Amino acid sequence: GTWKMLPLKHIFVSLGANTSGCWGAPYDTLCRSLHELERCEINIVCCSSVYRTNPHTAAGMMPPFYNAVIGIRSHYAIGSLLRVLKYIERRAGRRLSARWSRRPLDLDIVDFGGRVLNWPSLTRRGGPIVLPHPLMQDRGFVLVPLAEIAPQWRPPVLGVSAESLLKATPGLRRGVVLANKLPQDWLRTAEGC
Ligand code: ATP
Ligand code: CA
Ligand code: CA
Repeated sequence: GTWKMLPLKHIFVSLGANTSGCWGAPYDTLCRSLHELERCEINIVCCSSVYRTNPHTAAGMMPPFYNAVIGIRSHYAIGSLLRVLKYIERRAGRRLSARWSRRPLDLDIVDFGGRVLNWPSLTRRGGPIVLPHPLMQDRGFVLVPLAEIAPQWRPPVLGVSAESLLKATPGLRRGVVLANKLPQDWLRTAEGC
């Protein structure tokens, strides 16, 4: 469909939040983070719905995550983009915390224009940037929103679309529930580019 008409330089960022921070509850934090991204000269080209995901960690005490994926355009190189994302996470109230622990905001680069970097090593704090995100193919909370905005897009290395991955492994959808549409000004899809 219309997605194929987008320029080749796709950049996808995943958003996650599961605790209140400086910008309020998780859903409000996601909305605010979109405004903050645009203020940092990151143009939001398309945006998925927000999904609620129950974390399946051993510790059953974790509040659910709110997740979305956006397609962006910006003049930043990869390292600069990651610095901007971390700056926004911090302003949302994120402080150093264990990996996968509760946090007001998590912004990950899922794919940067098809670049492959240090893949598939698992990311570590202070470690090298890994692209595409090394766990995206295992995560329903990334694949479901990605399939919504870019069903046919094939991430590098994987070579299969989010939609195909979900079809092949329907269990990935388990626990990923449509929670909310974002406010009107973020409902742009690929057609609105
Ligand atoms: P996961 O990577 O499994 O989603 P996480 O998001 O909880 O875990 P963080 O503590 O937020 O992990 O980040 C760990 C480190 O990963 C950060 O210091 C960041 O520099 C690095 N990193 C490497 N590649 C990426 C990427 N593609 N997107 C975001 N961060 C990355
Ligand atoms: Ca993450
Ligand atoms: Ca992260």
